[in-house]
Amino acid sequence: MLIKIDNIPAEGLNVEATYSGQQFFQLLEDSEPRDFALEKVDVACMIKREMQNVILQGTVTTNLELSCSRCLRHVEFPLATEFDYILMPEPAFGEEERELSSEDLDFIFYRDDMVDLSQIIVEQVVLKIPIRPLCSENCKGLCSVCGQDLNEGSCSHGKTGRSGPFGILKDVKIQKGT
Ligand SMILES: [Zn+2]
Ligand SMILES: [Zn+2]
Repeated sequence: MLIKIDNIPAEGLNVEATYSGQQFFQLLEDSEPRDFALEKVDVACMIKREMQNVILQGTVTTNLELSCSRCLRHVEFPLATEFDYILMPEPAFGEEERELSSEDLDFIFYRDDMVDLSQIIVEQVVLKIPIRPLCSENCKGLCSVCGQDLNEGSCSHGKTGRSGPFGILKDVKIQKGT
């Protein structure tokens, strides 16, 4: 969503938008693919001008659908995040493309008198995706031999001594060695 800076009134501009899952994934393009899905993303944002700078404050709300990193079960992960950015005009001499990165958070450049809200929304969601989602803290995971979901019942392969996130790593090593 592009906002023309000239169109931002002195009292600020209130923007509310909903992106469908399809729209959101189009915005993602090829920036680090992750295994998740979502139905929609809601955005509420206040855009203000302060001299040459643009202040963006708002919230992004969505419901991420992930797979448990131990047992692969479906996990819902509600996400509500607040953002607060200051955008400055891009320096005229800088030719390199500026892209959002974690170091640039809260401080980004805009150019051509346009602010791209979509870029910020994508960043807000992608940054908050848990790296190792779990269906529950005590998830027992899958048996590395037969794939039995150990939350639902044990199998004949007995205790694997899986007690934490490293349990899976251990299992992978054992599998490779055989
Ligand atoms: Zn699980
Ligand atoms: Zn088993």
